[in-house]
Amino acid sequence: MKHLSSKKLRGLVGAIALASCAALAMPNAQAVTAGPTAVQPLPVVGEVAEVPPNDSGRDAGWTSASAWNAVRYNKLYNTGAIPASKCKRPNVALNTEYRVRYFEQELVRCMHAVWKSNLWRAGNAKWNVKPNLVVHGYNTIKTSCGSVTGWISFYCSSGNGTIYIPWRQIVTYYSQNPTFAVAYATNTIAHEYGHHVQAMSGLLTASWWRQNHMSKDAGLAESRRRELQASCFGSAYIGANKAYYPMTGGLKAQWDYVVSHSGDRPGYPRDHGSWTSHNFWSQAGFKGNGRYSHPGSCQTWAAPATRIA
Ligand SMILES: [Zn+2]
Repeated sequence: MKHLSSKKLRGLVGAIALASCAALAMPNAQAVTAGPTAVQPLPVVGEVAEVPPNDSGRDAGWTSASAWNAVRYNKLYNTGAIPASKCKRPNVALNTEYRVRYFEQELVRCMHAVWKSNLWRAGNAKWNVKPNLVVHGYNTIKTSCGSVTGWISFYCSSGNGTIYIPWRQIVTYYSQNPTFAVAYATNTIAHEYGHHVQAMSGLLTASWWRQNHMSKDAGLAESRRRELQASCFGSAYIGANKAYYPMTGGLKAQWDYVVSHSGDRPGYPRDHGSWTSHNFWSQAGFKGNGRYSHPGSCQTWAAPATRIA
């Protein structure tokens, strides 16, 4: 519950920050292919309770030992390469609700097509569960995980899992800097799908169980390990498919900008990790072991505290 009130506030502040961004924005079409430009919106990373408060039944089995095992030694880490989905970038401008929905739906389809093989290899019963996608235009949306206000993308693990994407945020970014918007929309859905992979692997509820049994500061560190891992999983998908999507030139430069400017900002809860930490884990997932991208790059629970600051 206390999560929700601070999150509501955070969402509101995020929306206000965005509004002031928009006031400053001057579309610069020329610079679009040239990488970072003067118009660089700040990515907004929101936080909500990804596990429904009334869904304690399926968490009931965790103990401190089993939850630690699930986050630290999950079988997913040893499942090897994430296959390239071979999906190309959906060929639409992100300037309408319909097109944003199409774009994100395609990415969910592509992510499901490859993540299921790693989930299968890890022996997860829910290896073939595709999450729902809700691309919405509301400022406040009610979900099984609570009510969320502001332009925040998030994941709720209820049922088969649902990813929520506020399309107005992406359309606004697109009007400011189209390449940034594509990088942001790609990275955001990859991060949220990372939470779905966590949910299907037991990582998500194990981590929330741990957080609910911790002091506030330890709980924030737990949240950072979970969030940084979701970004790492997302980046691992993007890295695995980088030859097909292609992640080069202006789009790669904008993606580098997005991942190095996402995370906790001064005055906000330290629940996602610093920009430096976020960049570190995103690049780690993208690069993998140098030959291929794999979930084993994303073992944030094995990392020292300095890496999850
Ligand atoms: Zn997240």
